[in-house]
Amino acid sequence: MCGIVAYVGYREAFPLILKGLKRLEYRGYDSSGVALLEGDKLNIYKKKGKVSDLESELAGKHLTATIGIGHTRWATHGEPNDVNAHPHYSNNRRLSIIHNGIIENYASIKQNLVKKGHVFLSDTDTEVLVHFIEDIQNETGDTLESAVKLALKEVFGAYAIVVMSADHPGQLIAARKGSPLVIGVGGDEFFFASDATPIVEYTKDVVYLDDYEVAVVKDGKLNIQNLDNTETIPYIQKLEMELETIEKGGYDHFMIKEIFEQPRSIADSMRGRLNAADAHLQLGGLNGYLDKLAAAERIVIVGCGTSWHAGLVAEYLFEELARINVEVEYASEFRYRNPVIRKNDIVIAISQSGETADTLAAIELAKSKGATIFGVCNVVGSSIARATHAGAYTHAGPEIGVASTKAFTAQVTVLTLIAIATAKRKGTINEEMYRQLLAELENVPQKVNEVFENASRIKEIAFIFTYARNFIYLGRGLNFPVALEGALKLKEISYIHAEGYPAAEMKHGPIALIDEDMPVVFLATKDSSYEKIVSNIQEVKARKGRVIAIVTEGDTLIPGMVDFVIEVPKVHEILTPLLSVIPLQLLSYYIAVMRGRNVDQPRNLAKSVTVE
Ligand code: GLU
Repeated sequence: MCGIVAYVGYREAFPLILKGLKRLEYRGYDSSGVALLEGDKLNIYKKKGKVSDLESELAGKHLTATIGIGHTRWATHGEPNDVNAHPHYSNNRRLSIIHNGIIENYASIKQNLVKKGHVFLSDTDTEVLVHFIEDIQNETGDTLESAVKLALKEVFGAYAIVVMSADHPGQLIAARKGSPLVIGVGGDEFFFASDATPIVEYTKDVVYLDDYEVAVVKDGKLNIQNLDNTETIPYIQKLEMELETIEKGGYDHFMIKEIFEQPRSIADSMRGRLNAADAHLQLGGLNGYLDKLAAAERIVIVGCGTSWHAGLVAEYLFEELARINVEVEYASEFRYRNPVIRKNDIVIAISQSGETADTLAAIELAKSKGATIFGVCNVVGSSIARATHAGAYTHAGPEIGVASTKAFTAQVTVLTLIAIATAKRKGTINEEMYRQLLAELENVPQKVNEVFENASRIKEIAFIFTYARNFIYLGRGLNFPVALEGALKLKEISYIHAEGYPAAEMKHGPIALIDEDMPVVFLATKDSSYEKIVSNIQEVKARKGRVIAIVTEGDTLIPGMVDFVIEVPKVHEILTPLLSVIPLQLLSYYIAVMRGRNVDQPRNLAKSVTVE
């Protein structure tokens, strides 16, 4: 949550920061602001609303500073308004700060500072931190750099910060704990950002800052030390990201672009790992760990939101293929219990961003209990990728739309690969089944393309249900998590209340909701529970519910029973979620667009949830 961009170099900082903030707007969009060093003054410009509101406010202003910091906020402390927007000044206005995260002990620090005469303008925890840094500087007479370190040693919580001082032109100080921060290293210029997207068009050389590290750019040089002043040599990595992957490329929204990218992102998640013709399946990130996985007595999967749904799909996969007992946990709940972790347990943590605070905390807890942790995440170099023992990246490419689509199918793809590899190693699937699954997996991208042929039909159905107030999604087996994911997608972007349920569970409660106004989406593909789901459809139709059924191509029974059908190609049952989720993504997207929603940045949501 919240996007940070900062720049120091020879270019005009303001347009560069503004462009970067727009790229990071998926992280938070309730207000935004920039601070620029103009002459010997720090000037802060900020505005409630989206980055474009800030842009309009500042249109025509001659802002030529070559050093500045910018922020797009996802409020935690204090409502979203102009005053609470970042950046914030210190008491004497000689320092300014941008911050992603939460300073948990801000209240006690603030109390002390108020006693000393500090005057606070905002309700944020962030403003307290920059006042605190100034106060330490005044008390100790130390350099700004050591005042920042001393302050950070006193605070609890999570932060990625950048501090700019009116008294040190050309200098930026950044630090992180828990929230991400990437530094772009150009010739004579430096960039700081929450992820690499604001940086990639200027340089591909980046350094990922680690927790408790403080980066100082001064006199054109980058120096990194930890809070105890031990220096580390910056490890410069090459970005693999291409600019076009982070632009809309002619689509109206990132979400629809990302939905249509799925044939490629699924293929990219298998690339180099799978070759059906040679019966080859190898995940480099799992080298040396596959035996451990195969020997696991239990797998515990942790995740949040859509990643949790991918975990539920994986539960079926590992149990069915590898005969390993699986538990899927909300990361936020897992960490606040006293979970029983045994020696042979494996924990798989799933996160698109690799920065999800709840999932990171769950990893740390499981680690402290001696578990082996695998990560499945999308962002290379992210905190979760670094905190886990082993894992596999999903290679979906940057996902900008806040509602996850291609990241989900990439997660399911990678988890399927891991489950098949584990089953093969364990000997729980025979050679024929192994080869069949690999061959079918290779064909999935093409089959996803075939689902897109129904896009205009799905749009028509969406039009009919644009004004629905509730939706129910029902599925069984592997399609149950898909039902949950379909309901979540609709909630997230259209704000229609939607519930996902196991289809058989409906009669134990939710059936009371069914009447002629209730749209019910059935995941009714031809699989082992097909006959059962047909009965469930009858139960809903008997109560006059309006049924939209996702069916397997060529189904002749269900179309005669329901109001609308959407076909998906036939595929091995194990791979069903990769196809059956696609129409649900499209349905949500079209309904949300027709309702006039901001699908890429739905209200109250942020993509990378770095607060607990
Ligand atoms: N806690 C800070 C605030 O509420 C930062 C939130 C963020 O990460 O955007 O202003």
